[in-house]
Amino acid sequence: MRVSSRRVFVLQVVAGSAAAYAGAALAQAAPMVDEKDPQAMALGYVKDTTKVDAKKYPKHAATQKCSNCALYTGKPGQASGPCGVFPGKQVAADGWCSTYVKKA
Ligand code: SF4
Repeated sequence: MRVSSRRVFVLQVVAGSAAAYAGAALAQAAPMVDEKDPQAMALGYVKDTTKVDAKKYPKHAATQKCSNCALYTGKPGQASGPCGVFPGKQVAADGWCSTYVKKA
């Protein structure tokens, strides 16, 4: 059976739209990491890098934040985004944790 190229095109558009919608819905649905979450607490995560405990993390600098961390995959300018350390959740662009690695 031969499928017309128009039909293939329509199917591709529908599939692409569905994937884009699912991706957008997933991004919106991803909850923020809670500072009180056990993993977040273990890593010293805070949603505001200026609130880091300087005594506990003396190597922290105020210029370090999730948005310039190598593990952050959020888009520039957005308030939050995904982080490889917290799968399925979002971290604040201005946040920080002790796993911080400066983006190259
Ligand atoms: S690993 Fe990086 S992006 Fe993830 S929470 Fe820590 S500082 Fe933020």
